[in-house]
Amino acid sequence: MNFDFSEEQKLIKKTISEFVQREIKPIVNKMERENYFPYEIIKKLGQLGTLGGYANNIDTISSCIIIEEISKVSPAIGVIISVHNTLVCNGIYEFGSEEQKAKYLPSLIKGEEIGAYALTESHAGSNALAISTSYKKEGNKFIINGRKIWITNGPQARYILLYAVKDKQNPKNSITCFIIDTKREGFKVGIIHNKLGLKGAHSSEIILDNYIAYEDEILGKEGEGYKIAMKLLTGGRIGIASQSLGLAIGAYELALNYSKEREQFGKKICEFQMIQYYLSEMITRISASKLLTYYAAYLKDKGENCRLEASMAKLYASETANFVVDRAIQIFGSLGYSADFDIQRYYRDARVLTIYEGTSEIQRLIIAKEILK
Ligand SMILES: Cc1cc2nc3c(=O)[nH]c(=O)nc-3n(C[C@H](O)[C@H](O)[C@H](O)COP(=O)(O)OP(=O)(O)OC[C@H]3O[C@@H](n4cnc5c(N)ncnc54)[C@H](O)[C@@H]3O)c2cc1C
Repeated sequence: MNFDFSEEQKLIKKTISEFVQREIKPIVNKMERENYFPYEIIKKLGQLGTLGGYANNIDTISSCIIIEEISKVSPAIGVIISVHNTLVCNGIYEFGSEEQKAKYLPSLIKGEEIGAYALTESHAGSNALAISTSYKKEGNKFIINGRKIWITNGPQARYILLYAVKDKQNPKNSITCFIIDTKREGFKVGIIHNKLGLKGAHSSEIILDNYIAYEDEILGKEGEGYKIAMKLLTGGRIGIASQSLGLAIGAYELALNYSKEREQFGKKICEFQMIQYYLSEMITRISASKLLTYYAAYLKDKGENCRLEASMAKLYASETANFVVDRAIQIFGSLGYSADFDIQRYYRDARVLTIYEGTSEIQRLIIAKEILK
């Protein structure tokens, strides 16, 4: 058993951590206050070689390192990258034809184009089989109509992996994944959702109005979309577990440092046993999240089925992040409640972690299904 990162992974960690301090930290407030989308950061991350997932020789462990390091400071950029790398680039790499890989991946790897993943609809959240965005075939054309909601990177994406159904009575075998080009007629971005947190990452409605796709824009085979969607979400959940882990570490470190500075009753507050209890609980749960997340990543890199481990990592790391931000605010006292301090941003950003890419309830269902099969 070896818990060490490889030399290359250590270098990635160091490089990204320095990049985050130098390039991301200075724009976090702008993203937060102005809902600013950091295009220039995505391009620079492309130049650093951190985009593209497997297609760019980034294994899952390295992908976790990248998302964790970024999310320590900006969970919003963490999710932009997680969707782009783990769902879109890995999706095209794992299920795409050679022509599709050659057509779409180079610009996604460079960060010149951004990817999104569109499954959710107003009546189909946890139950993805209930989607009603539909397609029909006419000659060599696939005509797609419908609306998706909450699509991360929706307003910025050039390419979207979008799921549409042919026969609503038999969705399991008739959902197809299309690679949508957002520059084509028939595609529109709808409302951009106003969110509690993750302000710099935009989620939007997207509208397909007689959008025409062609055979060579189907990812995998026609009718295999549901299987592809679920398989990609397993990898995506390891990404969100890494985002949760990074966010939790960021919040914990702020609280730890503050507890060493703040004095009450003539003592640093970290000298009080109750504060020590909070800090020790926080770091213990963070460490457990780290082990679960990197173990799931390790299994994925070995090509093993990691559905159970990915769900356990996502469930535990996202709930830990919410536990940690709550305790961190407690340690900050009134300053934790002030919009002028960073810690409240972590508190707001953390809340969605137990909701997207499968709620905590759905993760528990998957875990139960895996252990009882
Ligand atoms: C910021 C943000 C970004 C997102 N990005 C994307 C994206 O890029 N692409 C995309 O496709 N989607 C995206 N989503 C959608 C997200 O994945 C869904 O919101 C999520 O799957 C839950 O669906 P829902 O909101 O419809 O909740 P619902 O499915 O309506 O669930 C409501 C509640 O009921 C519970 N519940 C549902 N079914 C069961 C059950 N069988 N047993 C027990 N409890 C159950 C849920 O756990 C939850 O607590 C995003 C959402 C947000 C908020």
